[in-house]
Amino acid sequence: MKTIGIIGAMREEITPLLEFFKEYEEIKIGGNSFYKTTYKNHNIIIAYSKIGKIHAALTCSTIALYFNADSIIFTGVAGGLSSDLKVGDIVLASSLCQYDVDISAFGHPLGFIPESKIYIDTDKNLNEIAKKAALKQHIALKYGIIASGDSFISNATKKQWIIEQFSACAVEMEGASIAVVSSLLDIPFCVIRAISDSADDNAGISFDEFLLDSAKKSASFIISMLDEIQ
Ligand code: SAH
Repeated sequence: MKTIGIIGAMREEITPLLEFFKEYEEIKIGGNSFYKTTYKNHNIIIAYSKIGKIHAALTCSTIALYFNADSIIFTGVAGGLSSDLKVGDIVLASSLCQYDVDISAFGHPLGFIPESKIYIDTDKNLNEIAKKAALKQHIALKYGIIASGDSFISNATKKQWIIEQFSACAVEMEGASIAVVSSLLDIPFCVIRAISDSADDNAGISFDEFLLDSAKKSASFIISMLDEIQ
């Protein structure tokens, strides 16, 4: 029996999963609740981390080390950067980067930390499973770089800067920490995000309007992925 960890950042992002699984055990660690259930011969651990890279790193580490997860899936919403992304579209991260890391004063490129790298790749097998699940449901999955940082991007200039510096197609606040933790601990991971806004001057209003719908879309896509995992 494999253990699959599923992380969201906000309660709204995991509620649809808890509603789907209905029965689960709640385990409290580090000021956070972890919900344990089983589905189709898999142990499932679900948690929301709270917003931002640090919270997500703690939750991811706990799922990895305390619950011994064999794979980790992130579900949630994101701001769309690519002009071909609209609210409700689903993005599968090819890799993730931290757009807010800047030690360029020492000659390093933006997003780079010594002994690490700018872009951390997601797991090929999990991505194949996501693509297969999308194909079955006729979902046009967008595959591209997701940039993470500890700010809600709601500004056209900042948005353009992230696109130019990191070639990212979507922006959010947790994905790269899942990437850093999972890759260092050698746990296959992937990041799925449904678009809630376009990270532009209207992003706050759009986010409030579409959070629930987009969070549900991402969560139901995760369930369809679980059906594909052997
Ligand atoms: N409204 C919330 C705060 C949301 S912060 C509150 O008041 O509590 C935005 C969350 O959604 C983060 O978890 C982030 O990962 C994601 N997100 C969606 N759109 C984003 C954007 N434009 N920029 C950064 N993160 C975004």
